[in-house]
Amino acid sequence: MVNKDTKVVMFDSDEAAFLMTGISGWVSRHGRFMGDDERAARYDGCTHTRCEDCGEPVDRGRLICPKCNEARDVKRCAAMPKEEWNGEGMLYSDAADKYFSDWDEIESFLEDNDGTVESLRLIICVPQYLPLLCNDYGCDEMAEDGELPDAVIGAIEEFNTVIRKVGAVSWYPGKKAAIVPEQFHILPTLEKELKNGNTI
Ligand SMILES: [Zn+2]
Repeated sequence: MVNKDTKVVMFDSDEAAFLMTGISGWVSRHGRFMGDDERAARYDGCTHTRCEDCGEPVDRGRLICPKCNEARDVKRCAAMPKEEWNGEGMLYSDAADKYFSDWDEIESFLEDNDGTVESLRLIICVPQYLPLLCNDYGCDEMAEDGELPDAVIGAIEEFNTVIRKVGAVSWYPGKKAAIVPEQFHILPTLEKELKNGNTI
């Protein structure tokens, strides 16, 4: 429908299109003109790029291939400072993207999955606690020299006691790798073989 506010550009008008001559530049596989930007044209037209580390083809949009990604993760974890785990918190497996709360869990995970304790790349987790209410609670609302009512002070103390008692509510991987206790230094699969009386 055409009314007086509609902008009309007719098919055969000079405004609808014009013939451009003398242009050159990079055109991607999909026919997109990128001018001088060869890189943009190639990126638009490609499906794969080269892995930054090994040069093998990787899906466009990824910087490195899964193999090199794993190698980087191994290197990063190996460079972490190590610490004996106190057994109370959680451990995070960088390799399996999984949290463990004790060695039994790790052992049964390894029974169901291939790998060794070392290959899990265990990281000691840091606990997260719920925030406590501070002494300055309500200071923006109170008069300058005003004091919180005793009942409120008591309630804050009670609240904080509950929160402290609750302890950690979540965990996140920290900056230290877990030292694996000595009994785990034997590979679980090797242990199984030995139990079965097989000679290695
Ligand atoms: Zn690679």
